[in-house]
Amino acid sequence: MTGDAFQVYALRYAHRDGKRGQHFHGYDERWDEPHPTAYYIWLAVSDRHTVVIDAGIAPDQAGRLAGIDYHASPVTLLADLGVAAGSVGHVVLTHLHYDHTGTAAAFENARYVLQRAELDYWTGPWARRVERERWLVNDDDLAHLRGERDRVRLVDGDADVVPGLSVHLVGGHTAGMQVVRVRTGRGHVVLASDASHFYENLEDDRPFAILHSMTGMYGAFDRIKELAGGPGLVVAGHDPEVLERFPPPSEPFRGRIARIA
Ligand SMILES: [Zn+2]
Ligand SMILES: [Zn+2]
Repeated sequence: MTGDAFQVYALRYAHRDGKRGQHFHGYDERWDEPHPTAYYIWLAVSDRHTVVIDAGIAPDQAGRLAGIDYHASPVTLLADLGVAAGSVGHVVLTHLHYDHTGTAAAFENARYVLQRAELDYWTGPWARRVERERWLVNDDDLAHLRGERDRVRLVDGDADVVPGLSVHLVGGHTAGMQVVRVRTGRGHVVLASDASHFYENLEDDRPFAILHSMTGMYGAFDRIKELAGGPGLVVAGHDPEVLERFPPPSEPFRGRIARIA
């Protein structure tokens, strides 16, 4: 085995109250039950590499979603863990929904890694017309990525970002949704991001309400299970339970940051 083992963290920057009926595709008998959503970015660090996975929502965009309780800029949370934005070598963008791209511009020395299919979709002829999706992208964030083309690495399918950390096209939630696999001391962790918002999506085979392709979403569930070193090594994208399944790096971070491995 060559390359590094990473430490992986989930950092929660916001929270929203919701109902089950908003979060699962199709009718849900328990639609009116409370079903809160957490908003995260993820950090993978080794001796040699610092990789941030997704960029959250910027403070000035936080009012965009009604009812969002914004705790801190993702950049501030990283600084709390001792990581300066300027020191980040790679920012993996799992997909281009606004709650995953907001602070991307702050990582001024980073290479952005995203799937070609994702950028092509949002800059192509269809996205503007698909009303159920077009509100989900932030035009300023998209313009930033298009203006920084020499710092954007577009990948097709599976690709290594650095040794021990790879991205994998799964689609489903968006046209070019990718998940991230990270080698850690506990085995391979998969950061599912919005390929599985909640553990219930993956574990009960229940698609999330917002999706680009239904078959793609089921395929993503299978691929996540294939890539992970075990069922306890999957990190759901928006599930408050991440902060219960995994411990904080130290007590002051409880309820905000989890150490995955
Ligand atoms: Zn999304
Ligand atoms: Zn999301």
